[in-house]
Amino acid sequence: MNPYNMALKQLAIAGKKLNLNEDTLEMLKYPKRVFTVYIPVELVNGKTKVFTGYRVQHNNARGPMKGGIRYHPDVTLDEVTALSIWMTWKCSVVGIPYGGAKGGVVCNPKEMSVNEIERLTRGYTRAISDYIGPMVDIPAPDVNTSSREMAWIMDEYSKAVGYNCPAVVTGKPLNLGGSEGREEATSLGLVYTVQEAVKHKNIDLKDAAIVVQGYGNVGWNAAKIFHDIGSKVIAASDTKGVVYNRQGINPYKLRDYKKKTGTVKGFEGTEAISEEELFELETDIFVPAALENQITKDNAGAMRAKIIAEGANGPTTPEADKILHTNEVLVIPDILANAGGVSVSYFEWVQNLQNYYWAKEEVNTRLKRLMTKAFNNIYEMTRKHGVDMRTAALMYAVDNVCNTMQSRGSLDKK
Ligand code: NAD
Repeated sequence: MNPYNMALKQLAIAGKKLNLNEDTLEMLKYPKRVFTVYIPVELVNGKTKVFTGYRVQHNNARGPMKGGIRYHPDVTLDEVTALSIWMTWKCSVVGIPYGGAKGGVVCNPKEMSVNEIERLTRGYTRAISDYIGPMVDIPAPDVNTSSREMAWIMDEYSKAVGYNCPAVVTGKPLNLGGSEGREEATSLGLVYTVQEAVKHKNIDLKDAAIVVQGYGNVGWNAAKIFHDIGSKVIAASDTKGVVYNRQGINPYKLRDYKKKTGTVKGFEGTEAISEEELFELETDIFVPAALENQITKDNAGAMRAKIIAEGANGPTTPEADKILHTNEVLVIPDILANAGGVSVSYFEWVQNLQNYYWAKEEVNTRLKRLMTKAFNNIYEMTRKHGVDMRTAALMYAVDNVCNTMQSRGSLDKK
């Protein structure tokens, strides 16, 4: 399913429940601004290739816009637009004062040299530098980007404005104004929501089974944190394969193996299973941590997880949501489950603006407080309105954004 259509369908569901009028829904469907940029990059073979990049700024009613930058060959404008809309809702769900944005560049970093990736990142930054900024739009890492790219963005933007400006981007290395705890924040936040969710499912996380789809930043960190609190990671996957061991997989060793070989496939002491089998595994927790559109009407009915905690953005289609809700699978939606990343990005931005830095304990304590409160708030709404967690989270987020727009006078009535 086209992710933008998915985001619109979700908005329509929440809008109906909230009784929003047509005009309001019409306004929320469209981003405020969309930038398409063409980035010439000199390749190592001496030739120049022009890459296409996007930055979509959806809504800034609640504050400067915020969202990651994705490098992937399949990036499309519709995907980036959907991701920007989800960022608006995500910041609203956890109550941080940001709107939503997202960026993407159509490229395959796995086939590029470090120098080419750096030139691409600097070129993309120059192309959008007039439209981003600490009070306007603050990028962050997403698929195939990390603290390394954020450092280049900070440097290139700082050159453009003529002074050091760490607050223009988050997810930076510590020595450039990054925050303690940012690297694993998305996954730690996810685990905090799961720690609340298991209370309603009679699961003890100390010996719970965990399945992780996508062993990148979010997937590996989630596996590590679950492992460290006593849960058993029984399966993990990436684009090249799926590994399974009912007795448990050591996530640290799996990470080291993937670093060496480029994949989880073939990891010692595991069995290779198919992608289809991965979704059908009997498990307490399933963490999709890859890309959109993974849990669909075709595989949702066969899933035997008790809880799905969405590390990825948009992994579940609306049709699959219905099936999972009927089967009493508790889905902690992306805009809640993976909001720990943007929350610690917010903490990083606050630290940059104050030029005063916090210890890791302080970051994680604040993160836990924020995620636990958001989970319980949304869970309470599911009870009150008789809806699933995604609908409740969307209802809360959309209503919050509309109220802010109304207070500012940009919306007559909801
Ligand atoms: P990443 O590039 O570090 O990792 C993605 C992983 O998914 C890779 O290991 C890749 O091999 C794997 N993958 C891709 N397609 C797959 C498939 N079909 N089956 C199995 N594995 C597949 O990216 P990331 O930063 O970990 O992001 C993963 C997801 O989490 C994305 O949806 C992203 O938008 C979301 N997210 C990331 C953050 C963050 O802080 N990085 C925050 C919130 C949400």
